[in-house]
Amino acid sequence: MPADTDVFIVGGGPAGLAAALAARQNGFEVVVADRAHPPIDKACGEGLMPDGVAALRRMGVELGCWQGLPFRGIRFVDNELEAEAWFPHHGGLGIRRTLLHQALVERAEHAGVVTYWQTPVDAIDPCGVTVGGQTVRCRWIIGADGIHSRVRQWAGLRQVWSGVRRMGLRQHFRVRPWTDLVEVFWHKGAQAYVTPVGPEEVCVALIGSAEKAPGADMAALFPQLADRLGRAEPMGSQRGAISISTKLAAVTRGRIALIGDASGSVDAVTGDGLALAFHQATSLGAALAAGDLTSYETSHRRIVRMPRVMERLLLLMDGSDGFRRRALRAVAARPTTFSRLLAVHVGALRPWEASFDVFDFALRLLASRTVIRPSI
Ligand SMILES: Cc1cc2nc3c(=O)[nH]c(=O)nc-3n(C[C@H](O)[C@H](O)[C@H](O)COP(=O)(O)OP(=O)(O)OC[C@H]3O[C@@H](n4cnc5c(N)ncnc54)[C@H](O)[C@@H]3O)c2cc1C
Repeated sequence: MPADTDVFIVGGGPAGLAAALAARQNGFEVVVADRAHPPIDKACGEGLMPDGVAALRRMGVELGCWQGLPFRGIRFVDNELEAEAWFPHHGGLGIRRTLLHQALVERAEHAGVVTYWQTPVDAIDPCGVTVGGQTVRCRWIIGADGIHSRVRQWAGLRQVWSGVRRMGLRQHFRVRPWTDLVEVFWHKGAQAYVTPVGPEEVCVALIGSAEKAPGADMAALFPQLADRLGRAEPMGSQRGAISISTKLAAVTRGRIALIGDASGSVDAVTGDGLALAFHQATSLGAALAAGDLTSYETSHRRIVRMPRVMERLLLLMDGSDGFRRRALRAVAARPTTFSRLLAVHVGALRPWEASFDVFDFALRLLASRTVIRPSI
């Protein structure tokens, strides 16, 4: 460990490594420490949204077909109801979490980031961070240590809100992907989403309540998915993780900034956690360069605003069969509305540019709810 550095990043997951790259691009000396060994795996749907792919490219991380499989949109499936939409310009990428991590590590180390693995950070103090009894002095401390962030606690940056706690389980299957869309299969209180991640491999993430998800009978909840998977062989072991939506009053204090899940998270069903972290990294890099974290605080709020709106809509669909089916009928009847809402979700359209579509969607929802009673 060096005695000092400009930026010390606690956590070398996707958010920490993206923050490291952004800081290096702005000329800082950067140290990253993570308690795990790379490539780090994690339960994840493994779908990287198009804006996340683009944000990584701007940081010099080129992900290609040799690492994953592009997908061109999203399909929602609820028994007989189906609705799909394509991304407006570029597709997303289905990529195994370990391959994404490996690509980020290689790029970061190539860019001059100093990495320490199997190295837990024990504390922060007024001079810097404490690692294995040694203090590393630094100008900036970045907490990229995930949903249970200790840096957040040490800095006194408390969560002011948390949503429903759900459980996510991930399993890979050896099967040729049957579509180039990410498919989300819906059931009340649970979703399974399928991301093509290789020519002979799909990733299935099941998300549901902590009671429902672990013992869930996939075939009973999602018969169409069970048909698709047929006798496909599970690959590797199943992994689980908590999916929870959390909000903080502030993500910076003094010279400390939080990023990624440590700075507040959105439910996994949005498929947006990674892209959010990569956007946050870009704006954090600019704030570090300016020597003032105020702009990061503001842009962090802006970056998470729209995903939170989408999350609310998706969780409403999770909680009510009636609402979900009306919503699916509404977007199936007018695919352009779905495409434009998806374009807003990935930042290709500004929300006001889709205001007519939101209005149209709301009208259709209301219309499908109206029961016309015969007059007596
Ligand atoms: C079931 C599920 C499915 C998901 N699907 C998707 C999806 O399809 N697409 C998408 O974009 N997002 C998805 N997400 C969200 C995404 O996984 C997260 O947003 C993303 O992992 C956040 O990255 P991070 O770097 O902030 O945190 P993490 O990936 O959790 O990394 C935090 C790192 O900090 C390290 N660490 C913690 N404490 C210390 C310490 N004291 N010292 C040193 N190191 C420490 C850990 O070892 C870890 O490597 C999903 C989430 C779940 C739960």
